[in-house]
Amino acid sequence: MTPQPNPQLGAAVKAADRAHVFHSWSAQELIDPLAVAGAEGSSFWDYDGRRYLDFTSGLVYTNIGYQHPKVVAAIQEQAATLTTFAPAFAIEARSEAARLIAERTPGDLDKIFFTNGGADAVEHAVRMARLHTGRPKVLSAYRSYHGGTQQAVNITGDPRRWPSDAGTAGVVHFWAPFLYRSRFYAENEEQECARALEHLETTIAFEGPSTIAAIILETIPGTAGIMVPPPGYLAGVRELCDKYGIVFVLDEVMAGFGRTGEWFAADLFDVVPDLMTFAKGVNSGYVPLGGVAISPAIAETFARRPYPGGLTYSGHPLACAAAVATINVMAEERVVENAATLGASVIEPGLRALAERHPSVGEVRGVGMFWALELVRNKETREPLVPYNAAGEANAPMLAFAKAAKAQGLWPFVNMNRTHVVPPCTITEAEAKEGLAALDTALTAADEFT
Ligand code: PMP
Repeated sequence: MTPQPNPQLGAAVKAADRAHVFHSWSAQELIDPLAVAGAEGSSFWDYDGRRYLDFTSGLVYTNIGYQHPKVVAAIQEQAATLTTFAPAFAIEARSEAARLIAERTPGDLDKIFFTNGGADAVEHAVRMARLHTGRPKVLSAYRSYHGGTQQAVNITGDPRRWPSDAGTAGVVHFWAPFLYRSRFYAENEEQECARALEHLETTIAFEGPSTIAAIILETIPGTAGIMVPPPGYLAGVRELCDKYGIVFVLDEVMAGFGRTGEWFAADLFDVVPDLMTFAKGVNSGYVPLGGVAISPAIAETFARRPYPGGLTYSGHPLACAAAVATINVMAEERVVENAATLGASVIEPGLRALAERHPSVGEVRGVGMFWALELVRNKETREPLVPYNAAGEANAPMLAFAKAAKAQGLWPFVNMNRTHVVPPCTITEAEAKEGLAALDTALTAADEFT
């Protein structure tokens, strides 16, 4: 459905936004937000009636697409029955959401602590790990994103951490594997994996194992570039955590709930963390929800001693009803299988073909509906198309690419010198092919800068 264009309303929406909405991560006067009139499935449209195929899934969260009628109906029904109720009570939607999530999380992660989103899930996972171990430090990767709140942004590795504040005590960064831009001078995945694990164990030794509460990693780092870890890396980190009594936290806020063609990315690697954070895909972001899945050993720590933490809206009934409906839709409509199958049969070969044709595509990597194209000036030297953390004029090549994509009716995810191909996991084959064709044209604009 695309409603009648209404440019006057669009202009009014835009004017009020510009006058009063203070946008995240932005220089307020340098942005020009699109006024969106509506959305359905894999697409959204503006007030001029221009339609865009969404290769971003919002911020990589609408895993079942926009306005799924069953999830909308479940939210409406919950609103009519019990719109809100405080976290200290047992509420049907909340207990059912926890049960469905616990059934799907890896291994024995059977207790669910609900939050309002991903960053607060990370905050609580770290707090649980510190209280469980009685140790102060957290180790996290440089190329990572863990959220925008005070602790989470400092645990984060990407440049958004830099200006946020002076950093928090007890957070230490290390390098995780990434063969294309190896910090370890590795020539193959096996070497990269072995050297990254050795680097991590050395970091643990120099920081003092008895001071380290947790190692936190995105199972597949998302925002920082969709870097699928080499086989054996996460199992190796699991072993190091066991060896030194460190809590292993996997952040599945972006990679979880079908994105990788498995319910959780941890399933791709057969690893079970001690704590696992989730948000986004749990209910496709229809109502804010996140949480931490907790191992029995950590849950036991708080069996007779209160857990000192919580949020007014933890496990909000509307959000939990949306999660129950989303998980059921994912099971009924085989959404996880669709991400795996179309990812392997259409998206991956399509992107690899683009890399053959376009001098600007340096590397293609990913799995399921979770892909990145790394754009370069030169395939041999791998010089990024734009410098690290480029802004303004220095970012012109990526802006040209994005503009060309939008002119083709494709809304692209752009971060630094990369475009991420992260459409809803419900995308159809025809839509995937349409998006790939638009990308083909848009990459020609990037090629101009090689
Ligand atoms: N962790 C990861 C891996 C994420 O990708 C994100 C969000 N992009 C967060 C945490 C933070 O989630 P939220 O924005 O819901 O706080």
